[in-house]
Amino acid sequence: MYDYDLLVVGSANADLVIGVERRPAAGETVLGGDLAVHPGGKGANQAVAAARLGARTALLARVGDDAYGRLLLDSQRAAGVDTVGMLVGGAPTGVALITVDPSGDNSIVVSPGANGRLTPVDVRAAGCLFHTSRVVSAQLEIPLETVEEVVRQLPPEARFVLNPSPPRPLPTAVLAACDPLIVNEHEAKVILGEAAVSITSDDPEDWVRLLLAKGPRSVVVTLGAEGALVASSKEVARIPSVPVTAVDTTGAGDSFTAALAWKLGTGASLTEAAAYAARVGAAAVTRRGAQESFPTAEEVESLCC
Ligand code: ADP
Repeated sequence: MYDYDLLVVGSANADLVIGVERRPAAGETVLGGDLAVHPGGKGANQAVAAARLGARTALLARVGDDAYGRLLLDSQRAAGVDTVGMLVGGAPTGVALITVDPSGDNSIVVSPGANGRLTPVDVRAAGCLFHTSRVVSAQLEIPLETVEEVVRQLPPEARFVLNPSPPRPLPTAVLAACDPLIVNEHEAKVILGEAAVSITSDDPEDWVRLLLAKGPRSVVVTLGAEGALVASSKEVARIPSVPVTAVDTTGAGDSFTAALAWKLGTGASLTEAAAYAARVGAAAVTRRGAQESFPTAEEVESLCC
């Protein structure tokens, strides 16, 4: 019997957003609108997305002993995430300073803060969370050595899902544990590294095969409004997107990954799980914000088509 459908290991950030008429050049000061503070970070986003769908979810993350840390703990609890694995202290809470101009273009400075202090020792100390979770998911806004320890702690029956964002080359042991590796086109190219040079066509099926050759048990490539592509040694399948009017794509990839990870744990095939995740991602882009935009299971059901 599992306590959690999904254990998310990853980052928790406060997103500090200011709207500006024009983003400042070097040495320049500009006046902006009112500051908006939102809970964010890929780990925190995935945990909220899964919990909102009804998954029993835990988050292993580190925040600072400060007001933003409390905001993140409160927002996880409000979404129904078990925060027993949320560690406090060691550095200030991670922060993203975001300026957005009227055309929607933004400039972002990230201070990883406490996210950078989530260590392999923290992962080992949370061993019981790994043994009571069906699926474990991670991203790369925490140290790579911490993700490597996550892979070492995985019980044989647990499934591991990785969204390598922000992307960087991955060790063989991490790649081999991914089932699936979930990437968008940009992340795929970074993971492929030199192998990407040999791609001559724009067909994502070409680089899906190259990604599989890197060792993951399965691969999902998300293609925004074009849907997604799933691939394992048995099949390559296209998952169509659900037609919606997109107003804000922030967090689409996080909600897609969380939904897919949760569905896989319920026994769904990779194709079934990705089709469900595409509905979740589509619902998320119809609303502004990241965590605020994530749908409930009922909202996913009522999404047309
Ligand atoms: P990321 O944010 O990681 O780049 P994507 O933008 O590819 O991820 O979005 C993840 C998934 O969300 C897509 O595979 C798709 O299923 C869904 N999605 C994203 N944008 C749209 C859109 N405009 N219309 C419908 N579905 C979308």
